Amino acid sequence: MGYRRGCLADLLGDAVAYRGLRPQDPRLPGFAELREELGLGGELPRKGSAEYARVVVRILEAAQGLRGAELRRIVYVGDTRHNDGRTIAALGELVPVRGFIAAEDPGSPPRMEVSGGVVYANRWGLIGRFLERLRAEDFPLDEGTAVIVDLDKTAFGARGRNSAPVDAARIAAAERIAASVLGGEFDREGFQRAYRALNDPRYHAFTGDNQDLVVFAALVVSSGAYPLRRLEEVSAGKVRTFAEFLSACEGLPPGLARLRGEIEGALARGDPTPFKAFRRLEYEETLARMDLLPDGTPPERVLAEEIVLTAEVWEFAGEARERGALLFGLTDKPDEASIPPAGHGGSPLHRAVMKILGGR
Ligand SMILES: [Mg+2]
Repeated sequence: MGYRRGCLADLLGDAVAYRGLRPQDPRLPGFAELREELGLGGELPRKGSAEYARVVVRILEAAQGLRGAELRRIVYVGDTRHNDGRTIAALGELVPVRGFIAAEDPGSPPRMEVSGGVVYANRWGLIGRFLERLRAEDFPLDEGTAVIVDLDKTAFGARGRNSAPVDAARIAAAERIAASVLGGEFDREGFQRAYRALNDPRYHAFTGDNQDLVVFAALVVSSGAYPLRRLEEVSAGKVRTFAEFLSACEGLPPGLARLRGEIEGALARGDPTPFKAFRRLEYEETLARMDLLPDGTPPERVLAEEIVLTAEVWEFAGEARERGALLFGLTDKPDEASIPPAGHGGSPLHRAVMKILGGR
């Protein structure tokens, strides 16, 4: 039997915005167009902030305007308590909102808890119960409702079930960068050790949990220019910011020194995606993991090795659309990791064909 396949654009069209808050549908305004009207500075607001929510609500209002509807309520589907939870709370300050946040945890019995209008579940399949709750609460999925679907680890690569290939794409990209910059001196194991160490929450204050910075720091550590044990300087508070870390790195190999210059420049501009070369490879590696294996491959292997559309979210979104709701894809995934560079082939991630696969 063959797998079902589809792409997010089948449901969303180009009603999608990646990290840069530039809707893919050119008729919709983005951060650049809304900045002045909303009294925001030049710096791109980050997911979870009040400013981010204000931009998103204006984009949704414009999308509703295109079809002669008003924005009365928002339903948000995501996968992280912290980022998505904060985004829901910030949106809720502006428009009535309900949320569903899931991460599959097959090791424990199905469970959901409700807090502040948000359902937290340990099964993606519980989204059906969320739908029932909305109905019981008289929070309709009608033409006045915008359904925001987070992309990364929600619409595809479901957290806890199919997120490993999403991470694998990122690690493969990081290793390709490392191999090209460090050449023969690239020590794969040392790099992986440094990457794992730097992903630890105790370094979040320093990396901002930004994968651009985590990967670059891991490259520096594995090059030997800043040995892993020197990271104690970070834990001890002697090196507080990433900029301080960059200036503390001495004797970098030429390729890394050049990258450091680029990253310093991007950080100084407030660019949240300073390591563009890495993100472009992440895009290639992510796309390469979509609809990779032939029909007939066991679903367990597909879920372990390729990135698929989350059937439960796909069906929820389809149902919402049928009832008249606006669907909008929103993600913090950098544009560079999601859209091919100008003049290059390849689909943006929301137009990439994937298998549609759920839990069993
Ligand atoms: Mg996500």
